[in-house]
Amino acid sequence: MRIRTRLALQFLVLASLIVGAAFVVVYARAAEFRQEQFHDRMRSRGENTASLLLDVAEVDDHLLRKIEQKSPVRLVKEGLSIYDANNALIFHLGEDHGLLEITPALLDSIRKQGEIERITNDRELLAFSVNKPNERSVAVVSGQDLYGRGKLQDQARVMLVTFLIGLVLIFLIGRTFARRALSPLQRLVMDLRTISASDLSRRSALGKGTDEIAQVAVSFNDLLERLEAAFAAQKNFIANASHEMRTPLTAISGQLEVLLLKERTGEDYRNALNSVLEDMHSLNRLSNRLLLMAQAETDATAITFAPVRMDELLWAARSEVIRTDAQNRVDVIIAEVEEAADITIQGNEILLRSLLVNLIENACKYSNDHHAIVTLKGNRNQLSIEVADHGSGIDPADHERIFQQFYRAPSTAGTKGHGIGLSLVKRITELHGGRVYVESELGAGARFVVSFRKGR
Ligand code: ADP
Repeated sequence: MRIRTRLALQFLVLASLIVGAAFVVVYARAAEFRQEQFHDRMRSRGENTASLLLDVAEVDDHLLRKIEQKSPVRLVKEGLSIYDANNALIFHLGEDHGLLEITPALLDSIRKQGEIERITNDRELLAFSVNKPNERSVAVVSGQDLYGRGKLQDQARVMLVTFLIGLVLIFLIGRTFARRALSPLQRLVMDLRTISASDLSRRSALGKGTDEIAQVAVSFNDLLERLEAAFAAQKNFIANASHEMRTPLTAISGQLEVLLLKERTGEDYRNALNSVLEDMHSLNRLSNRLLLMAQAETDATAITFAPVRMDELLWAARSEVIRTDAQNRVDVIIAEVEEAADITIQGNEILLRSLLVNLIENACKYSNDHHAIVTLKGNRNQLSIEVADHGSGIDPADHERIFQQFYRAPSTAGTKGHGIGLSLVKRITELHGGRVYVESELGAGARFVVSFRKGR
């Protein structure tokens, strides 16, 4: 069921309960009022007749009958009886009362109670003791309140019809209001339907308002902003990654094709195969980094964190860098450390090891002496790793850009690389709540600093 119909129905139920209850109260009061009025009429009929009979000596049963038959205030299908103090019926006019059998015991009980009243669907009866000193007479009056009941029924009919028409109107008005209130939401749905994955640049114009729907639209627009950026980054990443993969693959196939052009010496084959192997290693490293990148790009909550001893990781990274190229030299300095906990952080071992390898490999790769100096510092509150070299250095204009995916500084164009390592370092640092920056000048070596806050 649509929200607007549901709202209209809820509105209808609520309104019908309130209006229905009001109508019931009004009807009950009208019914009570009718009864009171008829009661008063029956009483005054009985009192007047009894007074004529008992107080006026000239009036006897015969004369009273004549007077009463002509009385304009007689009730419809009236029955009127008067009993004296000895329970003898001294006057009766009109219909049989029907509702009660008048016995001496009943008359005594009426004298005691003052009055009794009986009401059925078509007849009402009032019996009361006539208050005359020393007289203990009882008047019994019964009749039909045709006019009063007819009026009441008419009133009930009018109320019922008004109620039903009211319900229809309330439902229609409720639906119109609900539709009007929800129309911005419908417009938002239409806006969002026009946005597809291939065109994420569209935004909902409703985001310019200030109401709740506008807040939803603003959130959607923000989401689209992020999605658009993520889509663009992904597209970029795939294009750059395939370009980086193609370069060594083209080199490998080119070398093999040249090799197969004619018969070669054993030495030529060995040289060519070594070169191909080197390209394969580079390809392998690239695909490993791409894999790690994909892993690091995922949500931080999907990555497992555990206490990691940074010094152990550093020695492992050092071994790996030296294994890759025997020319590499890596000095490790562990400074200002009082206990093992100072150099332990909550982190992901594989990602942190890759961070260290990337920084140390770069330091060796971009310096002629292939020498990296790594300093590990830690205390209760923070842990930092500095990777320094005496290499070619980095132009300050590139300090931010080198952390972008696939960016390579022009000054190092002659050295092999893919421009992934530092973006991976940045992402891994951020995943661990840390920060990374570089201090360097062209030709003056570089110093990369990664720092993590502890107690996360
Ligand atoms: P790659 O080294 O494969 O090119 P990185 O993302 O690791 O990719 O580095 C990006 C760029 O940053 C490098 O191309 C290089 O220009 C510069 N760079 C990184 N580390 C150093 C360093 N230690 N000394 C000089 N330049 C560096």
